[in-house]
Amino acid sequence: MGSGASAEALTAASADDLKGAVAALSDADKAKVIAALTAGGGGGARKSVIGGNWKSNPASIATVKELCAAFKEAKFDKSKVDVVICASNVHVAAAKEALGDCGIEIGIQNISKTGMGAFTGEIPCAMAMDMGFTWCLIGHSERRSLYGETTDDTLVKLKNAQDAGMKIMFCIGESLAEREGGTTDAVNQSQLEGALPLVTDWDKFVIAYEPVWAIGTGKVATPEQAQETQANIRKFVADKCGADKAAKVRIQYGGSASPGNVEALSANPDIDGFLVGGASLKPDFVKMIEHLGK
Ligand code: PEP
Repeated sequence: MGSGASAEALTAASADDLKGAVAALSDADKAKVIAALTAGGGGGARKSVIGGNWKSNPASIATVKELCAAFKEAKFDKSKVDVVICASNVHVAAAKEALGDCGIEIGIQNISKTGMGAFTGEIPCAMAMDMGFTWCLIGHSERRSLYGETTDDTLVKLKNAQDAGMKIMFCIGESLAEREGGTTDAVNQSQLEGALPLVTDWDKFVIAYEPVWAIGTGKVATPEQAQETQANIRKFVADKCGADKAAKVRIQYGGSASPGNVEALSANPDIDGFLVGGASLKPDFVKMIEHLGK
């Protein structure tokens, strides 16, 4: 049906017809309709969000300053994309200072489960916020696989971060064996299902879908794989929390994303941005920011 025919059908329909048609949709389809009706001027339904996860890099403060100087030059519309750099804890303050007021925010890679007090080595959420570090990662696969972070731990962190007013990139994703075994959606759902009922502010809760087999390996999910999985994640949010929340929640893709694949991946309706490791340690990370923020 052409757009003229759609317009005719819509204008001929009564309000009751329209309400009935929407009521008959599944929650996932309702989410699509809400997203389309609330789409912003940039053509995307939701504001994009891109995070650079520097992990335990770079080796020197000189490189931190060089990267920040490059990122500061990025030309992007702040109403179209949130940009976050998750530097290591020893570099966050320097990165914040070097980025100044260019609009790029700072995130903590491993926020604490605990608050202020006798917790050696931990970074409490309230302390991070007080310093102006407004975002955090929760549940990154390296925290889960290398440091034994459990799904229960991610829920405590989520509650703490929200209470402190932080914005959250909540990481989920399947291993290669799980994808090959056909349990991708079940794994994502098990990592998300405890978190969804805890979310109090859907503008500050971002889901980072990161297939573990694609992180740091150079193997990128195809745009079709990423879109299919992320549509299923959104459908799960619709089933658990309703169509309005599903339409609103931003879902990033992470796993060897780079300037070379940003366009093909971000062209998909359920890919609202990226969480980027290796490619965020290069000056041309700017190209990814600019692609989303134009
Ligand atoms: C990550 O660490 O979250 C990540 C996606 O890394 P990379 O982009 O290097 O795969």
